[in-house]
Parts: sequence; structure tokens; C-alpha cells
Amino acid sequence: MPQPKVVCLEEHFTSPKLRELRGEKDSPLQCKLDDLGALRTRAMDEAGIDLQVISENNPATQNLDAESAVKLARASNDVLHEAVRAHPGRFAGFATLPTPDPKAAADELERAVSKLGFKGAMIMGLTHGRFMDDKKFRPIFERAAALDVPVYIHPTPPHPAVMDAYFKDYPVLSGAPLGFTLETLTHTYRLILSGLFDEFPSLKIIVGHLGETAPFLLWRTTDTLSRRIKMPRAFGDYYRTHFWLTTSGAFSDAALTCSIAEMGVERIMFSIDWPFQENLPGRKWLDAAPVSERDRAAIFGGNAQKLLKL
Ligand code: MN
Repeated sequence: MPQPKVVCLEEHFTSPKLRELRGEKDSPLQCKLDDLGALRTRAMDEAGIDLQVISENNPATQNLDAESAVKLARASNDVLHEAVRAHPGRFAGFATLPTPDPKAAADELERAVSKLGFKGAMIMGLTHGRFMDDKKFRPIFERAAALDVPVYIHPTPPHPAVMDAYFKDYPVLSGAPLGFTLETLTHTYRLILSGLFDEFPSLKIIVGHLGETAPFLLWRTTDTLSRRIKMPRAFGDYYRTHFWLTTSGAFSDAALTCSIAEMGVERIMFSIDWPFQENLPGRKWLDAAPVSERDRAAIFGGNAQKLLKL
């Protein structure tokens, strides 16, 4: 099979059992999320996307009781695995993990990678209000490091206390316009301060939306933290060593240029966030973005090939 030249890594679906549990209503958007076949591949073909690495839609199984999470994560991964088998070379998978039961989540990650051929895992932000730096989640990262697969930290709505204090007056800001960014940015910063990367020096984390503003803030965060706490390495050093960023839902030349300047082009990977963004505008944006042809090819697929061993 030829290596995929254009790869996207934050592309979502809804598995039937989670759709039923959440009582999702029919809509054009839900119709796309339900599809793991011709509708999806047609939308990929329109934009010349070779491969989607597919993941369960927000909030996946992060907020279920432990027993249901284990059962439904497994079912979700099995559904996705069937779709990957039916579309060789077009679909790949990031595992859904039952984070409410961390030990089971680590085992499910291993099953998904070793038995189903998944490329890593995606976690939808908070688990019952807890960030992943909580020590109880360490077995998941330990297993990801042992399997040498990345964990994609995806946004979810902020903690209810933050929702109330920050967004009660402007609920429209609570999701993608601002709230998701605050939630995920905080999440990634907490992982670094928790010492996670000293415990697992080979651990790899992916963040979407060009790092949720982290590249823009990296100098200031690194500078001020260096004067306030003792860390084995500088904050920016951890970020540049352990994080990869995708362009999901962030088709901005200015943000891309800043991300490349802070991270290096080899850390930036193309993604859409389908179906919440359309494929074609993302493709057209990166086709015209102000980078060399060599860098464009690396962002479109070369970097993902290396990280995910495609
Ligand atoms: Mn997404």
C-alpha cells in the first residue's frame, strides 16, 4: 500500500451505542458523524485526503460510570476497527479509552494498539471534572509510553465552576470560540507541571487547534515559571519535546507561522476536525499557506507518517 500523502488526525464519528445512550437527534451533522463509509470517503476525496485517523466524538466515554465506560469504549473501538478493515489505506483509528477506570483504560489501549492496529488514543478532556494530570490516570500514560503511541488531548466543555464564573453571561463563548481553548490549554500545562514527562521521558502528546494558543504563550510561560518554581527542565523544553500540534479547526497563516517558529515544522500535522469543519477549506488553506513545498508535504502527511508509523 502506498504511503498516504495527506493525513488528517482529528476526524470524528459517533458509535451506535454511544449515540443511543446520549439520545443524539438526527441532523445533517449527526448523519456525517454516524457514517464510516461512502459519505466520509467522498468528502475526503473532494479535498484529496488520503487517510483519516478517526476518533469517537466528544465526550466519548469520559463522563460515564466506570462499568459503562469500559463496555462502551470497547464497543466503540470494535466498530471503528471494522470500518478500518473495510477501508484499508483510507481509515485508521485512535482508541476511545474508558478513563473512569484507569487500569481498564490502559488495558483497552493495549488491546486497541496490539490487536486492532490503532495508532494511539484520543481523550476528551476532563473525566468527571478531573484533568489527566491526576495521579490515578498514570497507568494510561505508562502504557502509552510502553506501546510508543501518542495520546491526543482533545477539548471538552470547561469545568462547571469555570462555566459559571467565565461564561454564564456569554454562553456562546463556552465552546470553540474560547472555552475549549482554555480547557485544553490548562490541561496540557498541568500535564507538564505534574512531572508526567520526567516519569515517562518518551511520552508523546498531540494537541489540536495549533496547540490552543500555547505556541503564542510559550516564551512568557517559560520565562515566568522559571522564576517561580523549580523544574528539572524549562517549561518550553518539555513542550517542544513532548508535544505535536495539528491544524484542526485552525486554518490561520499567522497561527501556523507562530507554531512553526516555536515548535519546528516537524511538530505540525494537518487535520480538519471533520465534520465540525469542512475538508475543502482546510485543504485549500494549507495548499496556499506561506511555507516551502518541502514543509507543506511534511505538514500534510510526512510528519504524521513518522509519528504514527504509517
Ligand atoms: Mn475535534
